[in-house]
Amino acid sequence: MKSDKSARITRRHFIKQTAAGVGAACLLPGAFSHVQEEEKKILTRVLGRTGLCLPIVSMGVMNADIPAVIAESVKIGVRHFDTAWYYQGGNNERMVGTVLQNLGVRNEIVIATKIGPPASRERGLAPNAKEIFLSHFQQSLERLQTDWVDILYLHGVEHPALVTAEPLLEALAQLRKEKKVHFIGISTHRNQTQILQSMCQSGFYDVALVAYNFLMADDTELLRAMETAHAKNIGLVAMKTQAGGDWWRKDFQDTTHIEKTINQTAMLKWALRHEFFATAIPGYTNLDHMREDFSVAYGIDYTETEREFLLSADTRVGLNYCRQCRGCESTCPLGMDCSTLMRAYMYAFQYHNRDLARTILLDQVGKPALERCSQCRECTVRCHYALHASEKIAALKEADFLMV
Ligand code: SF4
Ligand code: SF4
Repeated sequence: MKSDKSARITRRHFIKQTAAGVGAACLLPGAFSHVQEEEKKILTRVLGRTGLCLPIVSMGVMNADIPAVIAESVKIGVRHFDTAWYYQGGNNERMVGTVLQNLGVRNEIVIATKIGPPASRERGLAPNAKEIFLSHFQQSLERLQTDWVDILYLHGVEHPALVTAEPLLEALAQLRKEKKVHFIGISTHRNQTQILQSMCQSGFYDVALVAYNFLMADDTELLRAMETAHAKNIGLVAMKTQAGGDWWRKDFQDTTHIEKTINQTAMLKWALRHEFFATAIPGYTNLDHMREDFSVAYGIDYTETEREFLLSADTRVGLNYCRQCRGCESTCPLGMDCSTLMRAYMYAFQYHNRDLARTILLDQVGKPALERCSQCRECTVRCHYALHASEKIAALKEADFLMV
């Protein structure tokens, strides 16, 4: 959904959002007192109606494959780990489960995992969606070596109808009744405003995992929907806070079209200065990035450099971030699902997670459409936000991502 550009935010509002800086704080359980130093307190917030008290920085495990990064995260105070049934073909959940089991900290940690709505070939809900969903969840429990997960999300919900789809609600209610799941949520990348509105209406969900970063500051409809969800006590968790991962720290600086050094902490602080987010799940993959991201848990006031970075027009255009608004899809004569192509690009070239890119291309675009796109000679796709969309599609083609 395109944002309401008429409701332009001011420069002052963009950088300030919250004067106090910190939402309602809470106390971490005793087992975590070792990380609460006298002078340097980890900022915490309550995750809506779940009542869970979380440090404002959590870990998105999606791209991580080094167990020591999870173990070290626990040591420095991370309390909430976010994974998913399909990440790394199940190995992501296995890694989380093994590390937490070895550390013996399961009771002190919040595990969130996600399972997508089982789809049929025609992209509707599969006829036996409830049974498939429950069997995927059983796999998740086994991989995570636990009897319960704290938060189970319906993964990647894009259509409001799925928010109230009976087979999924039945499966989730059953798991909650059996106490295999403590809290239920939805993760979403597209149509986020409508999904949040449907969640508020249904009253069924405890948590929403929302993609939000400073490049989406003009999306006032989404902002209002998040504020409403927060007012209804739905816990909000932020993802995509750093507009696409850690790629720029490595070898893809050229494709960002940006001169400046990318400032990760500035972007993470910007998201967390929205008090309705209890926590964010930056997807760090090594110890340096873990320390950099977690430094934000100690304070969200901007440094002068961070402020400059966020205010620079150069930064905003250059990051080339796709907000999944679908505005470009009408510019493709074949009606391709271009925003999924953009997301696949981010996973393939920014996260360096090629398996995930292939999975979402196959699941969400489908083989026949990918073949048609791969044979199309001239890409006419134009982004409403001046993103280099056709360059990204060309890169996917060149790397054979559309030949599946
Ligand atoms: S290459 Fe052709 S089919 Fe593919 S997205 Fe571009 S215009 Fe559409
Ligand atoms: S490429 Fe641009 S128009 Fe297309 S979905 Fe992304 S942000 Fe929207």
